[in-house]
Amino acid sequence: MTHTNTVRTRIAPSPTGFLHLGTARTALYSWAYARHFGGQFVLRIEDTDVARSTQDSVEQILSSMQWLGLQHDEGPVYQMQRLARYHAVVEQMIAAGTAYRCYSTPEELDTMREAQRARGEKTHYDGRWRPAPGKKLPAPPADVKPVVRFANPPDGVVTWDDLVKGPISIRNEEIDDLIILRNDGVPTYNFAVVVDDWDMAITHVFRGDEHINNTPWQINIFRAIAGADGAPLPQFGHCPIILGDDGQKLSKRRGAVSVTAYRDAGYLPEAMLNYLARLGWSHGDEELFSLEQMVQWFDGTHLAKSPAQWDPAKLAWVNAHYIKQASDERLAGLLQEQLATRGIVAADLSLLARASALFKDRCSTVVELADWTSMLFVAVQASDEELTQHLTDAIKPALRTLRDRLAAVDWDKATIATAMKETLALHQVKMGQLAPAVRVLVCGRAQTPSIDAVLALFTREAVLARLQHV
Ligand code: GLU
Repeated sequence: MTHTNTVRTRIAPSPTGFLHLGTARTALYSWAYARHFGGQFVLRIEDTDVARSTQDSVEQILSSMQWLGLQHDEGPVYQMQRLARYHAVVEQMIAAGTAYRCYSTPEELDTMREAQRARGEKTHYDGRWRPAPGKKLPAPPADVKPVVRFANPPDGVVTWDDLVKGPISIRNEEIDDLIILRNDGVPTYNFAVVVDDWDMAITHVFRGDEHINNTPWQINIFRAIAGADGAPLPQFGHCPIILGDDGQKLSKRRGAVSVTAYRDAGYLPEAMLNYLARLGWSHGDEELFSLEQMVQWFDGTHLAKSPAQWDPAKLAWVNAHYIKQASDERLAGLLQEQLATRGIVAADLSLLARASALFKDRCSTVVELADWTSMLFVAVQASDEELTQHLTDAIKPALRTLRDRLAAVDWDKATIATAMKETLALHQVKMGQLAPAVRVLVCGRAQTPSIDAVLALFTREAVLARLQHV
């Protein structure tokens, strides 16, 4: 990849679990930034933690990205398919003196650190295998497979102007010679990430601020690979972590943290994106905006320096907004899937669309929509309390009349409404008495949208059966 001025961003998840909400947010920022500047967005799977990486996780990540609609222009690139490239770069670095083989065994390193601790020093690799002019290195032991370490510059300061946090400086003496290639030939994160960002001509790296401490190494390795000739380094933007609603780091123990969990809980992708966008970025006071608007606005400024707090109530509010906006046909499809997870086979999509139209204003999630709609497919049972309150002896004669009338009318909302009005007049009762009684029997709850509209969703047979034993 030649380096041009084109903006190129990437998301680089490790396939050791689901797609975390924090990674989804960084993916959104990276994607929106590339789109804003007419650049490209790359998806890279960082699978060098061989013991913890799984195919199942790769698939979860890909399907989460697809569900969110954050389309990548290149990739997925798998690091484990690029080993030959990493090995070639390592050889070049060894030849250039910016990397070296280290034969220290784990036991030796433990002893070394013990001694450092005993002297009250901060533990660090002491450079025993690092070549230096005039230094005589021990003969490489034949029975030890070496690792390769990066020869970090011994002094000077690494500085970058972080897109989120502003200028950051770290002194080289605080960082030691990092292992870049393990002795099984697998590169470490900090090395593979640099070779890839370099090869893929990445210009802007957005990621979580847990990586800030890695960045000085990465910048130094970049310089070693790209040469000191002013080759362009990516710009880095480290976003603060997302806090749970208890103020602690958002984690599995504190509720759902995967994108798929929210999909399964009935959230819409555009709601997730809108909500995630605002967790760490703002455009004036705008709370509800489309992805197109975000692309228009997202230029890497107004990223928050301090951590945002996950707010389930706000997410539900945002989702409710998008549920209201969603077409009934689209909701019908989502509803069908949601009902299927409950063992309800609802084949009639037009019925589900009508149900969505009627119930969606009351729902924050598709799960809630399914809670409403399931009354059409499974038996209902109101609570004893509701039955006692609404199914009074005074209303029962009216219910019987209504049942008889409903058996005879054409089956639609208007005729059902007429039958109800006639029943009210005949028995001198009020809608406020009749409607709740019908609701508890037919819907299993005393409150619903307009009862004539709700009844029209059912078949006549179903309604009559539920009114049968009055
Ligand atoms: N694989 C790293 C992670 O999942 C990527 C970090 C980065 O973007 O450099 O945290």
